[in-house]
Amino acid sequence: MYRKNAWNALAEGEKAKLEAFSQKYKAYLDAGKTERECVTESVRQAKEAGFEDLNAVLKAGRQLKAGDRIYCNWMNKCFLAWVIGENDIERGMNILGAHIDSPRIDIKQNPLFENSGFAYLDTHYYGGIKKYQWVASPLALHGVVCKKDGTTLTIAIGEEENDPVFYISDLLIHLAGDQMSKTAAKVIEGDALDIIIGSEPLNGEEKDPVKAQVLSILKDKYGIEEEDFISAELEAVPAGKCRDVGFDRALIAGYGHDDRVCAYPSMAAVMDYEGTPAYTVCAVLTDKEEIGSVGATGMNAMYFENIMAEIVANLKGNDSPLSLRRCLANSRMLSSDVSAGYDPNFAGVFEKNNASIVGYGVTFNKFTGSRGKGGSNDCNAEFVAQVRRICDEADIAWQTAELGKVDVGGGGTIAYVCAKYGMNVIDCGVPVLSMHAPWEAISKVDLWNEYKCYCAFIREAKEFVY
Ligand code: MN
Ligand code: MN
Repeated sequence: MYRKNAWNALAEGEKAKLEAFSQKYKAYLDAGKTERECVTESVRQAKEAGFEDLNAVLKAGRQLKAGDRIYCNWMNKCFLAWVIGENDIERGMNILGAHIDSPRIDIKQNPLFENSGFAYLDTHYYGGIKKYQWVASPLALHGVVCKKDGTTLTIAIGEEENDPVFYISDLLIHLAGDQMSKTAAKVIEGDALDIIIGSEPLNGEEKDPVKAQVLSILKDKYGIEEEDFISAELEAVPAGKCRDVGFDRALIAGYGHDDRVCAYPSMAAVMDYEGTPAYTVCAVLTDKEEIGSVGATGMNAMYFENIMAEIVANLKGNDSPLSLRRCLANSRMLSSDVSAGYDPNFAGVFEKNNASIVGYGVTFNKFTGSRGKGGSNDCNAEFVAQVRRICDEADIAWQTAELGKVDVGGGGTIAYVCAKYGMNVIDCGVPVLSMHAPWEAISKVDLWNEYKCYCAFIREAKEFVY
């Protein structure tokens, strides 16, 4: 099948819009290096765009109506936004769903120790990472420290030019004979991901003086005691802002494109919606996708269903469970998640006719999974036909792909979770180079076509009548 480079398909004047959107995305990516920071930034932007807090609406007992713009913050780790449509909510919504957690290195609950003049934080990595990629590189610490008195301290250290950064050491090449002969999985092992956070002893202290020095700084500067790490969520992430790549600045290298490169355009498509849609449009930015969509903030949790139950009950004026089920079953969804960008350096793992080519537009994955489509949501062909038509009518550069060669590997997304309600769901995102590496890369033209696709989808997708 013929595909063309999306840069060649831009209309007159479109490149300036593409660049402007890329700048907004880059600002979001820099503001949101954790799921919590993404929620904080999303709530800020929602308020600025005139969206009302769903909880305030419900508390006031106000009846929702077509055209209302609402948002919801779930446990500071998930964000949802809607524009209420004209049609009966039982006819379903047009949903964009992405995740805002990214692979990283989490700090353990009892993390602080001293060894040979260094103070360290002990860690447990989160999500699928090549551990050797995270050493010998500046790291920032982001997260919260929740104290017994009920207060929460928000932390982000290592992003400002004058901030210190944190560091995991690697073995010098001169002594790495044994290490270099190990497999990549064993070069750096999980328990070796100890982060250096200090190396100056506290004057006069005899027992663990370096650790004591760090603790005294934490106490003075942040009011944190060692015990407070127990109720903290701290994430070590690559330090620094995302950057344009190439003389032409056509790519963006940054931390956490997976999946904020889908989360931001999903949110923006709903917030930028003008007027009142036919069907209610919804963006859901969820957590814990990288570890199996588990927990109270993962897509497998009840929060989406519960929040929708509140909205459906409000709109219908009754709390019939059947209305909620009809709403969910009749919905259409893009599970907005990234694809493996075809990489000529590693051509052997791809089947090029069914690979996502960087610069060739937004990518649909009919199925994900691995080794015989295991664990995938294999979307109905009828729905694939609908999204094809929507994209073509809106002049969107799009392509279809699967994750690598058939028996090489695979991956999953939130698609199967939402599909269990009976809704039509297809995976739709952009190709990413070096997925799950500290610095991933995406193309601005793919991002732009993705945003246009999401806008067209929530405007045009329609229910199936079987
Ligand atoms: Mn993802
Ligand atoms: Mn991922």
